[in-house]
Amino acid sequence: MPARRIDLHTHSAASDGSDTPARLAAEAAASGLDVFALTDHDTTDGWAAAAAALPAGLTLVPGAELSCRNGGVSLHLLAYLFDPADPPLARAMGQLRKERVGRAERMVALLEADGHPVSWAQVRALAAGTVGRPHVAQALVASGLVRSIDEAFGPRWIGAGGRYWTGRYELEAVEAVRLVAAAGGVTVLAHALATSRGRTVGEAAIEELAAAGLAGLEVEHPDHEDSARVRLRETAARLDLLVTGASDYHGTVKAVRLASHLTDPAVYDELVRRGTGCQVIAA
Ligand code: AMP
Ligand code: ZN
Ligand code: FE
Ligand code: FE
Repeated sequence: MPARRIDLHTHSAASDGSDTPARLAAEAAASGLDVFALTDHDTTDGWAAAAAALPAGLTLVPGAELSCRNGGVSLHLLAYLFDPADPPLARAMGQLRKERVGRAERMVALLEADGHPVSWAQVRALAAGTVGRPHVAQALVASGLVRSIDEAFGPRWIGAGGRYWTGRYELEAVEAVRLVAAAGGVTVLAHALATSRGRTVGEAAIEELAAAGLAGLEVEHPDHEDSARVRLRETAARLDLLVTGASDYHGTVKAVRLASHLTDPAVYDELVRRGTGCQVIAA
């Protein structure tokens, strides 16, 4: 049997990806994947549609990417195989989604105050589900204020610390690791050393998360330089953490393709063994 091809980080239109969950499932199969995880930002809303549309031979790992912080640094926690109905976790994710709306509204208000022709209705219409900065970025492109989504994510606009950027509520990362574990799930720290995204967490923070039950580090990721991968592999070996790889696919919102980076099948099997809040879904 050829090695299974496994991509553990993708986004659908349930958050800020451009593919519907059903389309994403079809694209995953077309990309030659055997397994993909749906990890929309702060929501599980895409799970059912993705599961219903699974082509034969493709396995779906239900997941989410949770917005967290540690010591003033934003970080993203991939959570897999948790019980979506677990009340404390579902409440926390609901709060994150609510705060996303307030934050996007604040960014639009700042833009409007400077006379820029974007509106909340326009941004809201671009988001099929959970709103995110890519929707604001798309509105900036549509209004002709910037030429590209990348430019919108620059310092003049809504990039981290940019003129129209505002922060938002995020879960304390250590608490989030425990919350997901209590819901039967497993956690992997996403793109920990992606320097293009602003400040990154240090070793001490990763140690703290590992002590709280973090299962792994996402190492093979399009935003990681080779040097970041080397460092993260060393950290993972030292702290006995699993190492994963994934594309962080967003459809047309970002240039990256599905299956650009993959996870070792043995690591995937171990994650599945540890996740008890729900099961992987196969057609
Ligand atoms: P938010 O979580 O709402 O702050 O939005 C952050 C999301 O924007 C992340 O999922 C990133 O994948 C995405 N993002 C960040 N930079 C860019 C970029 N230059 N182009 C497209 N998407 C981006
Ligand atoms: Zn995203
Ligand atoms: Fe992320
Ligand atoms: Fe992501």
